[in-house]
Amino acid sequence: ASFADLNLSRPLLKAVEALGYKTPTPIQAACIPIALAGRDICGSAVTGSGKTAAFALPFLERLMHRPRGLAATYVLVLTPTRELAVQIHSMIEKLAQFTDVSVALIVGGLSLSVQAATLRKLPEVVVATPGRLLDHLRNSQSVGLEDLAVLVLDEADRLLEMGFREEVTEVVRCAPRKRQTMLFSATFNDQVRDLVLLSLKQPVRLAA
Ligand code: AMP
Repeated sequence: ASFADLNLSRPLLKAVEALGYKTPTPIQAACIPIALAGRDICGSAVTGSGKTAAFALPFLERLMHRPRGLAATYVLVLTPTRELAVQIHSMIEKLAQFTDVSVALIVGGLSLSVQAATLRKLPEVVVATPGRLLDHLRNSQSVGLEDLAVLVLDEADRLLEMGFREEVTEVVRCAPRKRQTMLFSATFNDQVRDLVLLSLKQPVRLAA
């Protein structure tokens, strides 16, 4: 399989080419068609498998056909650590470089008011760690989840190990029912399975 066979728009194929990717990784080949079809995904995948592009290319494709005049975040990626958030944000910016999609990074350690101003400009994609996102959701009303179409829970096992169960649950409850959710985890214990049950609807299971 090649990227050209995956039904991605020209600006995304151009970005993939600019990044030097020749062929999709196994998780990308498996995930992209299913995600483009709108299904929920439960992926067993580690960092290094190419999972970021596996979940980002389909939501970027969807964003290229989004309704105009969105009033709130369209895609939210939750990841456990600041380092992962920085990496994922940078990867998505590269994949989106030939589109008009904007991507915001919301992590601890940076000014809340500067981030609130960023969020008020309505970036279509928000990459966040749970603690800081909840600060914004609960206190500043600078972010709304009422238009959220795609939720990505990245490294779900680590999100839970780091004690973010309550935060992740609150995000899932605030997000519209009619949304696409993609959850990725390196390991699956009972806690992760509970989160799968809470957040995903008839997911397709994929392993890298
Ligand atoms: P990830 O698992 O998403 O953190 O990606 C791991 C690394 O693989 C990153 O440096 C990506 O830029 C790279 N990568 C992702 N997809 C591909 C691909 N199809 N071909 C070559 N490298 C890739």
